[in-house]
Order: sequence, then structure tokens, then C-alpha cells
Amino acid sequence: MSDCIFCKIIAGEIPSEKVYEDRDYFAFSDINPQAPYHILVIPKKHISKIAEMEEGDKEFVGGLFSTAVKICSDKAITDYRLVINNGEGAGQAVFHIHLHILAGRDFEWPPG
Ligand code: 5GP
Ligand code: ZN
Repeated sequence: MSDCIFCKIIAGEIPSEKVYEDRDYFAFSDINPQAPYHILVIPKKHISKIAEMEEGDKEFVGGLFSTAVKICSDKAITDYRLVINNGEGAGQAVFHIHLHILAGRDFEWPPG
């Protein structure tokens, strides 16, 4: 997707602080962190939002979670919140699926 900022980050056209990359996934620090540790995990395949995923995308979306667990495990982070916002009303601002990893502070429930 030529106008997608996260596709541009994957391609290296927009700089980012990369924390993880493999064949299918890319993870980087959020530019506006909401916790001491705030990482975004994205599939390299452009999928705009959870509600738009197709049958064949299930494993890409599932892999976001196993990638997040791996990243946290490698950093010995045991307590963290994983968030996906779907749609503008839920707080989604970038329309390339991303899993937020938030850690390093206490979290409230329900979230704001
Ligand atoms: P959303 O609100 O869509 O769930 O989350 C989008 C996230 O992407 C936000 O937390 C925002 O700070 C982050 N973000 C937006 N643009 C950039 C960027 O250019 N670089 C990085 N590293 N993060 C970004
Ligand atoms: Zn994209």
C-alpha cells in the first residue's frame, strides 16, 4: 500500500526504532508511547483492520500474538497489555493492523 505509513516503515522509507523482524512480522517502538514500554507489532502483509481480515489472514493475525509473546519473553517482560483498536471510534488511527504491546506501568480496567 503506497500511502500506508506502516508499509513505509517496513520498507525503511520512514525511519523507526526496530525491535524485531522476521519474514512475516516487523515490530518497532511507538512514536508516542503510552507506557514505558510501548511496541507495535505489525504483519508485513497490509491488512487494514481486524474487521477486514480474510480467511487466509487468520494465521497472520494469530502470529501477531506469538510474536508479541516472543518479544516480551526475550526482554523478560512478564506482565503486559496487548491491544488492537478496530475502527476510528475505537481509537484506530493507522489502517494497517497493529498489535500494541504496553508494559512497565500499572493498568486500569476498564481501559479509557
Ligand atoms: P492506533 O491508534 O491506530 O491503534 O495506533 C497507532 C499508533 O501508531 C499510535 O500509538 C501512534 O503513536 C503510532 N504511530 C503513528 N505514526 C507513527 C510513526 O510514524 N512511527 C511510529 N513509530 N509510530 C507511529
Ligand atoms: Zn500498510
